[in-house]
Amino acid sequence: PWSVTADGVSKVFDSGTVAVEDFDLRVRPGEFIALVGPSGCGKSTFLRMVAGLLPRDAGELRVHGDEVTSPRQDVGMMFQKPALLPWRTALENVLLPTEVGPNRRGTGEAQAREWLELVGLRGFEHSYPRQLSGGMQQRVALARLLLIGADVLLLDEPFGAVDELTRERLNLELLAVHERLEPTVLLVTHNLAEAVLLADRVIVMSPRPGRLAGVLDIPLERP
Ligand code: ADP
Ligand code: ADP
Repeated sequence: PWSVTADGVSKVFDSGTVAVEDFDLRVRPGEFIALVGPSGCGKSTFLRMVAGLLPRDAGELRVHGDEVTSPRQDVGMMFQKPALLPWRTALENVLLPTEVGPNRRGTGEAQAREWLELVGLRGFEHSYPRQLSGGMQQRVALARLLLIGADVLLLDEPFGAVDELTRERLNLELLAVHERLEPTVLLVTHNLAEAVLLADRVIVMSPRPGRLAGVLDIPLERP
């Protein structure tokens, strides 16, 4: 069984832009995939379709065998900017999904504390977002995804807005999360070195909209 499958997936925006064209992909459970390619080649658009945030125009897209029609709770997406509530502490932000929405979910405070620790934020549970750096805020967002219990993580340049050294550290933490929980990860990055460092497999998308330029198989060897 596949974690994510795409067959002939296409997206054409109203403007006429062909963002993704006839795209195929098969992702095994627990696999860490990096999607690379120049700006505008359709990486974000593809991720948003997998997340169920954007309808596709053609093709078949499945998560855990189910056709994607809307967002689902086992699929979590993270963007460049963390969406944290400024008036809530780190811990309260992580706990947010357990309190709101029609289907309350999540597994409580003890688990929230554990995930905050896993992403390196022990001692910052009661800090407010404004007291945390950009990188730390992204870690809070990652802990929140873990609390929801998402086992497919869609990461759209999650550390794109932090400096390079911090980024390297965050990447190592992401690897630690992956090793511990083995979620399926689709990471969008324009940094090939980062892709090779982190991923089991690197998918290169071509500047020609949606065209698969090549698939590099990176052996499973991590720091
Ligand atoms: P990438 O993530 O690889 O940089 P995107 O998926 O963001 O690429 O964009 C792919 C193409 O689709 C680009 O040409 C972009 O301008 C276009 N595009 C993205 N979002 C929209 C939108 N909401 N409306 C119209 N065009 C869009
Ligand atoms: P950025 O602002 O680039 O996102 P960081 O996430 O590294 O940077 O955070 C900036 C500062 O916050 C660093 O100087 C670091 O000392 C401190 N910091 C970050 N994470 C931790 C942590 N887990 N424990 C203690 N200090 C931290």
